[in-house]
Amino acid sequence: MSYDPSNIFAKILRGEIPCKKAYEDDFALAIYDINPRAPLHILVIPKGPYTSCDDFVSNATDEEIVGFYRAVGKTINAADVISTGYRLISNTGVNAHQEVPHYHVHLVGGADLGKMMP
Ligand code: 5GP
Repeated sequence: MSYDPSNIFAKILRGEIPCKKAYEDDFALAIYDINPRAPLHILVIPKGPYTSCDDFVSNATDEEIVGFYRAVGKTINAADVISTGYRLISNTGVNAHQEVPHYHVHLVGGADLGKMMP
């Protein structure tokens, strides 16, 4: 899948569409999901143009990869879910129903999330 710069997260990263920020640094922007599926639902988005996890880990620089996953950690810390637990999800492609073709990690928590795949 080639990267489509007109996707909604690219527009948010460029400041063309508003968002509610949870965390930001040079490598990532974390925003509250517009349609939350848990009491806490944040999307952590790397700033570079990558479509998926496999694209990101294959093609991003080491600095981008470390920076992004550190930002995921900082978002988790800031969300204060470590003591109660949380789930990270990354949907990729058709079988996973990925809606937005820019790599992102969902951070969900704030309640009992049930088993992973009922
Ligand atoms: P995916 O299925 O690609 O993993 O999930 C994309 C997520 O992006 C969905 O949970 C959806 O609610 C969220 N989303 C889609 N458009 C917007 C938007 O404009 N702003 C925000 N904050 N979230 C969005």
